[in-house]
Amino acid sequence: MTTDTEKKTFTYHVVTFGCQMNKNDSERIESIFAGMGMKPALCEQEADVILLNSCSVRESAEARIFGYAKNYAELKKKNPDLVVCVTGCMPGRDKGNVMGKKLRGVDFYFPTKDMIHLPRWLCEANPRFRNMLDLEEDYLALRPTIQKAFQAFVTIQTGCNHFCSYCVVPFARGLEVNRSLKDILEECHSLAQRGCVEVTLLGQIVNHYIAPDPQYFSSSNPYTKSDFAKLLWEINQISGIERIHYTAPHPIFMTDEVIDALSLPKHVNYLHLPVQSGSDEMLRKMNRRHDRAFFIDLVQRIYQKNPGLALGTDIIVGFCGETEKMFEDTVDLYKQCQFDISYTAQYSERSGTLAVKAFKDDVTKAEKKRRWWVLQKLMEETVLEKNKVFDGKEVSVMVENFTKTSKGDWLTGNTREMKRIRFLGDESLVGTIQNVKVSKADMWMFWGDLVQKS
Ligand code: SF4
Repeated sequence: MTTDTEKKTFTYHVVTFGCQMNKNDSERIESIFAGMGMKPALCEQEADVILLNSCSVRESAEARIFGYAKNYAELKKKNPDLVVCVTGCMPGRDKGNVMGKKLRGVDFYFPTKDMIHLPRWLCEANPRFRNMLDLEEDYLALRPTIQKAFQAFVTIQTGCNHFCSYCVVPFARGLEVNRSLKDILEECHSLAQRGCVEVTLLGQIVNHYIAPDPQYFSSSNPYTKSDFAKLLWEINQISGIERIHYTAPHPIFMTDEVIDALSLPKHVNYLHLPVQSGSDEMLRKMNRRHDRAFFIDLVQRIYQKNPGLALGTDIIVGFCGETEKMFEDTVDLYKQCQFDISYTAQYSERSGTLAVKAFKDDVTKAEKKRRWWVLQKLMEETVLEKNKVFDGKEVSVMVENFTKTSKGDWLTGNTREMKRIRFLGDESLVGTIQNVKVSKADMWMFWGDLVQKS
């Protein structure tokens, strides 16, 4: 005989903040919930469990978690059975539980790597969940719940050993752990079998991947030194996978083999390569382990081998002690590297980092904002100029979305250079790769015409 409690299907609601790594972690968490027989709730008000996957990279991101937690504490007054959890980078770096204590109404506050214990904790907290499966296994071995069948993130590594002085990641996610090669390849094969055509490999220093089980590399693999280049080659051989990209590499591990692997047929024609600053003094204080000359030379070698490659970067303005001259060095580096896109951040102190202990956050907010705008304007001018080469050109597009409007049925996708493009077409093309002729290349959106259905 079953009771009402046993018959109920519990529901969850996941809210994700931050980077693609966090999005992939949320997919893993959804796999745990699905393994427990739970289903996504229609809205947060109807959920039995709400999970916030937090980001700690900026102060503003943490402030949003406090805001959400406050709202959920109100929701709990109406629904005392509601369980609220916070995971992600915030608990990971909150060693003394200083922030955790301020999150009223939150039942579980745990670092990402501990998500495997969630079923047990839920059962311990509330007997309503007691019949659920015990899914405790290796965090990296958990298969994410794929949101779109044709695109997937594949985490190949977590944590980081580099301790850039401004960064919370080594504290929040721990030291670098590389995932088994066998497991990564099995996941990619299984994704391809289920219709996935595009994979994005994720790691904090993704190009520092070292296979714990290198015996699974094929004997015909042409690369000999870099496990990451070898991995890219292996995934290139998987039938069905048509596009591969990765984030985020570190400049010092862009070796000749990794640069060469950018030309593998399935690799997108885009690279996101964080530089953070163009000033030698700032790079040293940030503990980036290379100087500006190294980065500029690296970018030139990448462009030589891959003409037409689109380049993205991350930059921090107003880091401790950054003078006007140092900022101008960043502007100059930007011009030399001709980035297509920059994710520019105004420096904010993150407690526990080396920068907070060693340096003074002495650039005013107004000056940080001004520098941000200088780079923003430069980025817009640069990308507009670079995009001109696409006018009238035929591009290969991964079709992602369909929108019905009064002016027609629009498809939106990404070119191999990760430029957003929109064109008229029918919904059946979502999830396929199509050739499109660009009729207009704006700053952040291209417009085009479908060449022929492929
Ligand atoms: S390389 Fe530096 S910035 Fe990137 S995750 Fe590691 S410590 Fe953070």
